[in-house]
Amino acid sequence: MAVDPLVVGGALLVGLAFGSFLNVCIVRLPHDGSLLRPPSSCPHCHARIAWRDNIPVVSWLLLRGRCRHCGGPISAQYPLIELLVGVLWAGAALAWGPTLHALAGAVFGTILLGITVTDARHLLIPDEFTWGGLVLGLAFALGGGGPALVQALLGAAAGFVLLYAIAVIGQWVFKEEAMGGGDIKMMAMVGAFVGWRGVLLTVFLGALLGTLIFVPLTLRKKRLVPFGVFLALGAAAAFVAGDAIVTWYSEFLRGF
Ligand SMILES: [Zn+2]
Repeated sequence: MAVDPLVVGGALLVGLAFGSFLNVCIVRLPHDGSLLRPPSSCPHCHARIAWRDNIPVVSWLLLRGRCRHCGGPISAQYPLIELLVGVLWAGAALAWGPTLHALAGAVFGTILLGITVTDARHLLIPDEFTWGGLVLGLAFALGGGGPALVQALLGAAAGFVLLYAIAVIGQWVFKEEAMGGGDIKMMAMVGAFVGWRGVLLTVFLGALLGTLIFVPLTLRKKRLVPFGVFLALGAAAAFVAGDAIVTWYSEFLRGF
């Protein structure tokens, strides 16, 4: 089924706008800042940023990554996040058409990206992403854009209980906090979007990726693991290809 290019283009524009909002969340939520006040301002000269200088991606390019008032550099993270979210929303529209499921996928992906950035930079997963995302996930399930409501509730419970158990066992084995409360709340949110099977797949993929990518790095220098980053990657895979992966794995097992 071909998707109307207008729908994809519209999703791209809406995604760019949400990317702009996600930037505000990423910068302010780790510091418990309000999302609405104060209005956007230059980090160097604190001049207010006018709406025409706040157009996703375009303004940053036109101003060559500098503040209009003081010429101070504006991080490339802003247009990059905007572009990523824009492409994410367009991709969801392309994959699933103008459906509630596509919207759920776009919102889920946007939240996962926010978690990835805040966890990687601050080892912190804001409640707005986890509890807020949980509410959205359940709402999508209720509206028919996600798994059945019972599945979503089971998924949220499974995510919470499983990660809580891992945290308790980790504490007992390693005598230190191995898993933060943010990861536990995050997996409750993920479960609402992907159901309990998706939760198992997410944790499996997250642990696999974390082991492959991060353990070689941490062996040399002891440091905290932003496990939410790997869970986010696993959750995205579970949402997009969960059924296919589970089917493939069952076939694979049958081969023995
Ligand atoms: Zn400035």
